[in-house]
Amino acid sequence: MTVKLKKRLSGVLCVAAASSLLAACGSSGDSATEVEHGFVISNATIVDTRDGSLQQGRTIVVDGGKIQTITSERVRATGAAQEVDASGKYVVPGYIDMHTHVMEAIDLQPNFFPLMIANGVTAFRDQDLASEERGAQLNADSAAGLVDAPEAIFAGGEAHLNPAESTFDASNRGMPYIDHLGAGMGLLVDCSTQAQDIRTEFLAQGYRPSGINMAHFILNPRAYDGNQNARFYQRVLDTYDENTCEALSQAFVHNGTWQIPSLIRLRTQDWGNDPLYRQDPNLIYVEGSRRANWNEVGDMFSALPADAVTTLQNYYELQKRATLLMQRSGVKVLSGSDIGGIWLIAGFSLQQEFQELAAAGLSPLEVLQTTTLNPAEFLNRQASMGTVEEGKNADLVLLDANPLDSVDNLAKIDGVFLKGRYFSKADLEELKRGVADAYANQ
Ligand SMILES: [Zn+2]
Repeated sequence: MTVKLKKRLSGVLCVAAASSLLAACGSSGDSATEVEHGFVISNATIVDTRDGSLQQGRTIVVDGGKIQTITSERVRATGAAQEVDASGKYVVPGYIDMHTHVMEAIDLQPNFFPLMIANGVTAFRDQDLASEERGAQLNADSAAGLVDAPEAIFAGGEAHLNPAESTFDASNRGMPYIDHLGAGMGLLVDCSTQAQDIRTEFLAQGYRPSGINMAHFILNPRAYDGNQNARFYQRVLDTYDENTCEALSQAFVHNGTWQIPSLIRLRTQDWGNDPLYRQDPNLIYVEGSRRANWNEVGDMFSALPADAVTTLQNYYELQKRATLLMQRSGVKVLSGSDIGGIWLIAGFSLQQEFQELAAAGLSPLEVLQTTTLNPAEFLNRQASMGTVEEGKNADLVLLDANPLDSVDNLAKIDGVFLKGRYFSKADLEELKRGVADAYANQ
């Protein structure tokens, strides 16, 4: 329900529609409307995710998990309602992580949810379709206030592509989206002038070594196959053709094939032992056994020959370039962290994905769209998600600085609204501290 406000002749703001949320101001002479439940976010600057325009000095009334009212007038919180002063703050929709393996870790104590909320993540798409029933229960519990969790979303289809199929063919037969730039060597092969030969030889060799620890292999396949496959990656680098890549992008646009590049997943594979990850201060939020596995696979990666590593890292640079090319061609891009892979820490890894997309050349607004507006369109949920507007879900992030100036500001989180519940900066710090404390002695 959306509460409408309108002015009386006297200039006094009053409630036009009968509502228990806003109390009529009556004849007291007080010029502010009052609400008795929910939250009054006052003096906020709303960022329009469609065009980057800013609406300053707005009051946002949140109740029942929905944005009830947005007004430039003052609204006073009374009774059970709480005012949140958003002076100097920027309000954006909650972030949606469009590629995760969160449900497989749901029974961890603590699981990934506190870190996701602390990083502004209010919804995630999970790859494990078998968890859909459990996800529905999670969403019901979260809506009822029994648990604090981002919304679990299961958007069907194939999760991952068959590496034997070109991404041209996959797009043409109606594949709705491509995760982490494709399977095997990924869609870059289809930007090569020798695409067919390279793919055939690559598959003939058997791209997956035998006799390996599969759990470790999945953490970072490049630690295992990087050396034997480097020559194929190098051939793609040597035969990359921008026009072919542009034609591929046009096919994606024509067929409506979305991209979820998960660049951070690709980078953490191709820079598999980077001190940036190995010495990440946020590793305090990761349980001991997981950290041990990551270190072990990191050690394996560091044993790769230097020239193979250089090839992999050049390949990653080209993947970033192709991501920008696709964005500029009009391909729709979504942010996904692929939590579950090596070095990917829940919540933080989506912030890292924002950084990688920006490094690829996307503007801060485009990056913001990949995690708000675009997922709403992909999921066909524009009526409830994607922008900060009346009637939409009250899943919101309050930022200390303008996210259109820099993607760094997407991490400067002052507060989060999740299903209409409010987490102050102190609450978010507490969520993180709880995770760190639980894993401190592992
Ligand atoms: Zn994945």
